[in-house]
Amino acid sequence: VASDIATILHRDTLAVLVGDRTFEQGEACFAAGEVVEVAAGRGELRGTVRAAGSGRPPYVVRMWIRDDGVAYRCSCALGAKQELCMHTIAIALAHLDRERVAARRPAATLRERLAALDNGALLDRLVERARGDHALHAALLQICDELA
Ligand SMILES: [Zn+2]
Repeated sequence: VASDIATILHRDTLAVLVGDRTFEQGEACFAAGEVVEVAAGRGELRGTVRAAGSGRPPYVVRMWIRDDGVAYRCSCALGAKQELCMHTIAIALAHLDRERVAARRPAATLRERLAALDNGALLDRLVERARGDHALHAALLQICDELA
């Protein structure tokens, strides 16, 4: 259940789940930039979609994995009936698109990855690792001497 929702979300699956018409509406909604935001958590996707017409609050969408498949909820009329609506399709497509872009990006360098880490946690892991690795232990001590 805790698996990434992206592993079960595919364009083809969505199209089959929802039918052509709603899928096309969702696609158009995503293409028009109506998806305000989308965030993926453990086994779920949350997002908001701009409502047509000014002054109306955006639709709030949630899609999550259940043992028997995918569940969804949206603040629109269809979503309230737990039916798969165009907004849910739109945030799913936005998520898939973002994943595709991320996959094309070159992997971060070692420097970038290290710089992004929590210093304390990194320190703990390095010390722990150096305990069983004499070469690493010596290298780290040398770095300490050089930088001190
Ligand atoms: Zn909806």
